[in-house]
Amino acid sequence: MEIETHAHRVAIIGAGPGGICTAVRLRQAGIEDFVILERAHAIGGTWHRNRYPGLACDIASHFYSFSFALKPDWSRPFAGQAEILSYLEEVVSAFDIRPHVRFGTSVDAAHWDHEAALWRLITSVGRTVTAETVVAGPGMFGELRYPDIEGMDCFSGQSFHTGGWPADHSLSGERVAIIGSAASAVQLLPEAAKVARRVHIFQRSANWVLPKEDEPFTSEQLHQFVRSPSSVAELRAELFRLYATDPPFASTTQIGEREQFGIANIAVVEDPDVRAKPTSTTPWGCHRPLFSNDYYPTFNLPHVELVTEPIERITSSGVLTAEGTTREVDTIVYATGYETTRFASVIDFVGRDGAHLRNAWADGAQAYLGITTTGFPNLFMLYGPNTNAGSIIYMIECQVDYVVRSLQCMEREGLAWIDVRPDVMAVYNQQLQRDIEKVEVWQGGCSTYYRVPSGRIVTQWPHSMSRYRELTDTLHPLDDYETHARSHA
Ligand SMILES: Cc1cc2nc3c(=O)[nH]c(=O)nc-3n(C[C@H](O)[C@H](O)[C@H](O)COP(=O)(O)OP(=O)(O)OC[C@H]3O[C@@H](n4cnc5c(N)ncnc54)[C@H](O)[C@@H]3O)c2cc1C
Repeated sequence: MEIETHAHRVAIIGAGPGGICTAVRLRQAGIEDFVILERAHAIGGTWHRNRYPGLACDIASHFYSFSFALKPDWSRPFAGQAEILSYLEEVVSAFDIRPHVRFGTSVDAAHWDHEAALWRLITSVGRTVTAETVVAGPGMFGELRYPDIEGMDCFSGQSFHTGGWPADHSLSGERVAIIGSAASAVQLLPEAAKVARRVHIFQRSANWVLPKEDEPFTSEQLHQFVRSPSSVAELRAELFRLYATDPPFASTTQIGEREQFGIANIAVVEDPDVRAKPTSTTPWGCHRPLFSNDYYPTFNLPHVELVTEPIERITSSGVLTAEGTTREVDTIVYATGYETTRFASVIDFVGRDGAHLRNAWADGAQAYLGITTTGFPNLFMLYGPNTNAGSIIYMIECQVDYVVRSLQCMEREGLAWIDVRPDVMAVYNQQLQRDIEKVEVWQGGCSTYYRVPSGRIVTQWPHSMSRYRELTDTLHPLDDYETHARSHA
């Protein structure tokens, strides 16, 4: 194991939107001594890794983009994966981030050396990287979740997760089983139905699927956006008002409105028996909200079947359901989501007094503002506990601004490390959980995506995005942290 002698000012883990945003903001703040450790061989995170047909953004692209890199020529309101990925690549080039990235380098563990006030990051390539500060951006969706169905290993055709789509796999002419009917399945099904011979989609619970206004921009609109940057800024400001100023889950009026949109959306399913199956019986917001204009119409196609009987097991040739029918298929796609509740503990962080992050979070992840957690000095997290809301790029920008401000403050005050005070973190989380309890639609227990086994909701932010901006903007880092001055020996 080679131990690098140079201690970087900052080590960033991950070159997804979070890592990219941090790198840009560090450069803009004049901090050049940073390294990005990325386990993949490309930038882009979610948008590089996920390539299933139909993948697109659920948040309007003019708001799912960095405030410092507005893109006037998004082809449509909700861009697809390829366009988002190429946008991120453009940002990386425009801000000259690539020289800082070490690709194919997974951080397996990170140890805090309290004496030296440094993090030592143990990587998969046999090197230990040292840094004063770590910004961890491994994302919430890096770990695929598979269902626990008997016989999964026995299937003789091809099977894979939506998040691990084989580069050369086309569903053209195939008989396909899609297991799951949530976010990825809703996007995949219409595309699969266009090319496959037969598609069976297996639904465990029905979700609300709302329409989205997604007509491609006309050439006149694109011309206007490109010619007039102020029109792009105006559209973004309008989207900000739409998405960021109210918490959508708190108001019964808003929930009722969304359910009406959902009911209107599902009305296109012609057969009333089929229509009944994907009709949700839980309130909107209980499950993760979904959007699609072409999901429901797919159920009118003769070669598409929505199966709601429970799956008994996977056989060598297909999927056997409880009432004894086997659907024979060539390919099984697991659209079964991700392990969303682990956050930075996917890496073995060892902080003060040898504490392991995964033990500290045994009852569920928690942090202060989703960014710092007691006992792990100079560790900042992006898209951490309870920060899931609206445009994640917007939330990440709030976090990154907070990180940069903290680093500047440490520099100014001559601090070697800061560690969030346990009382500050406890008070913050008690209030946060009280606020979450007030969000009635999350109390139905619909979503394992939100909750850990202890019952705590660890992914969701219960307020508006603008409230998060206020909190991350206005608190002075030093008031909330134990601090330690640099020694000048
Ligand atoms: C299918 C899908 C659709 C989505 N749609 C939306 C949407 O519509 N709107 C929205 O706001 N958000 C959406 N998201 C959430 C999306 O993940 C975030 O918006 C955004 O990508 C988060 O950026 P990130 O950098 O925090 O994480 P990621 O994009 O996940 O990037 C994390 C990076 O860290 C790297 N990494 C992980 N662990 C290590 C390690 N140990 N060592 C080194 N590198 C590591 C990964 O390889 C990856 O490159 C979606 C997610 C998925 C999976």
